[in-house]
Amino acid sequence: QSKSVEAQEKVRTVCSYCGVGCNLEVGVKNNEILSITAPEDAEVNQGHTCLKGRYAWRFYNHPDRLTSPLIKKEGQFVEASWDEAYDLIVEKLGSIKSDFGPDAIAGISSSRCPNEENYLMQKLMRAVIGTNNIDCCARVCHSPTAHGMQQSFGTGAATNSIEDLAKTDFIMVIGANPTSAHPVTGAKIKQKLMKGTPGIVIDPVKTEVAEYATYHLQLRPGTNVAVLNMMAHYIIKEGLVDQQFVDTRTEGWQDYHDALMNLDIDRMEALSGVDRALVRDAAIAYGKAEAAMSFHGLGVTEHSQGSRSVMSIADLAMMTGNIGREGVGVNPLRGQNNVQGAADMGCQPHQGAGYMSVEDPKWQEYYTEKYGVHSPTHAGLKIPQMFNSAKAGTLKALWIMGEDVAQTDPNTHHVVESLKNLDFLIVQEIFFSETAKLADVILPGTSFLEKSGTFTNGERRVQAVREVVKPLPGTKVDGQIIIDVMNRMGYAQPDYQPDTMLAEIADVVPFFAGAKWNELGDNGKQWPILADGSETKILHTETFKRGLGKFHYFDFEESKEIENHATSFPYILTTSRILEHYNCGTMTRRTDNKQIVSEDILLINPQDARQKQIAHESIVRLFSSRGEVNLKAHVSDKVKPGVLFTTFHFPELMVNNITSDECDLETLCPEYKVVAVDVEAA
Ligand code: SF4
Repeated sequence: QSKSVEAQEKVRTVCSYCGVGCNLEVGVKNNEILSITAPEDAEVNQGHTCLKGRYAWRFYNHPDRLTSPLIKKEGQFVEASWDEAYDLIVEKLGSIKSDFGPDAIAGISSSRCPNEENYLMQKLMRAVIGTNNIDCCARVCHSPTAHGMQQSFGTGAATNSIEDLAKTDFIMVIGANPTSAHPVTGAKIKQKLMKGTPGIVIDPVKTEVAEYATYHLQLRPGTNVAVLNMMAHYIIKEGLVDQQFVDTRTEGWQDYHDALMNLDIDRMEALSGVDRALVRDAAIAYGKAEAAMSFHGLGVTEHSQGSRSVMSIADLAMMTGNIGREGVGVNPLRGQNNVQGAADMGCQPHQGAGYMSVEDPKWQEYYTEKYGVHSPTHAGLKIPQMFNSAKAGTLKALWIMGEDVAQTDPNTHHVVESLKNLDFLIVQEIFFSETAKLADVILPGTSFLEKSGTFTNGERRVQAVREVVKPLPGTKVDGQIIIDVMNRMGYAQPDYQPDTMLAEIADVVPFFAGAKWNELGDNGKQWPILADGSETKILHTETFKRGLGKFHYFDFEESKEIENHATSFPYILTTSRILEHYNCGTMTRRTDNKQIVSEDILLINPQDARQKQIAHESIVRLFSSRGEVNLKAHVSDKVKPGVLFTTFHFPELMVNNITSDECDLETLCPEYKVVAVDVEAA
């Protein structure tokens, strides 16, 4: 406290952990950070943060920070100058491009980085290398949300604002544990439920919000479509459809309606493991609400039917008229701080900055005019396809900025083998991550506290990230690193400045048209930001982006992971996050949060523990067809018999050694939430 009182200067910026996007006020003196507090006037967090945002910032000057470019020579990393590293990158990328063509090169961008750096990364790949092989971590989390909501509404982003929680009278949380993964929004949801607002939680785990919800539909992992179809069936049967909304704002209703009327409820009940009477009661409560908001997370998207689950949630909202006004809507809880922004900026292989199709000649011409070079004409590789191509030898070079794919992507052995098979791997990082260990060149980047730009949170709010301290000696702002390479490859760019970069983005991305760095203020603006600078709090008020909202019916399909492995591996493992740590833990493990939680644990139901003779806190062997890990068991009724739960925050365990290659059928988002495993006392 005394140190924070001494602070000379307070700099307002935005948390770089989750998609809530809390405003932070950072006390700094003599280029040293002394404190982090939360401003009372922050529209997102009103003076609150969680223990990640408030305390887990000490990683920024941790002794493990990378502070020099490193080049691997004869298997050993050797310190190099920036010029040496750049010369090697330009020489290798140039020769691979001329020998094998631009599609032999790919890039993975980072939601840890601001919009401006993501924009530059995709521009490097498209305008300088000449390929659409660019993707980001949205691939492994919310790509099904973007795809599904685009199919239903035309826009793959939250329809409403978090402040609408004050105006809703019903909350549905599906496949999300917001008090752990989105704690400030989670606290608001929990408080609302505690004060008596009715709600449904659909989740295989008894989460904290499930304890306060009116209905907890504790389904078998991977059966969201079955439960959502049952809900829609009962809403129709009970006469709770908003027919006027359906008739005037949507299309595809009759087919959807007819399919649901023929739904095999017996089968859906048996597959999901949720009692039909409970689903019916929950559906009636949702259908009768004046204003119902839904929130969904990775428990919806990281399934083979992830995109289809998202469209099913959109169907429920449309059939009950819960779209386009205050206190309603479909509101994905975006996992990472700027994952919305990374996709908005075009870090995906099929759509450029602003979500225009890279395969449509009209938009190819548009990007050609904006970037001054011919646009590549076919869609690029998604992250899982990059690994497959690397393993097959057709992808030769990969540039990964701020993403530890070796720890976080599924089936670690496959990922590591693929990366090792590349001719050239560039890793731009702040720490020596599991992925960095495999690099040919490591470029030391900077944390969010050492640079300026914008993050876009889960409610489309574009907020200013401001430099608090100078970059550590030896490091560079990531956007400048990309620009340096662009310049050396003959594509002249001015030095990195957040205001001019945002101006360029506003010129390319239509829904950023009125975004200006000096007009963002302390609370930012929600896109679409119109040319006159006005923001948009609620989407689809009069019409949907695609015109009419579209209903889609999908039959429930069992995951191939279960079909192929359930006999030998009868338990279903689902993986997730906890409050104290963030994803692969690269940042939170280097703060005091490691003293609070220092290992991944496995939750197992008491009945299963008895049957397997597994004692509380004993070490167990958890294994799948891909690999195994040993970890500590916690006997808990938070999971049902047959279901196991763990996290993936610690590289010592590498939980992703055992996760599966199955993916969302539409977007190739990995199916982290349904892994066929077995377990035994170790
Ligand atoms: Fe950061 Fe999310 Fe916590 Fe807010 S809720 S402080 S954005 S981790």
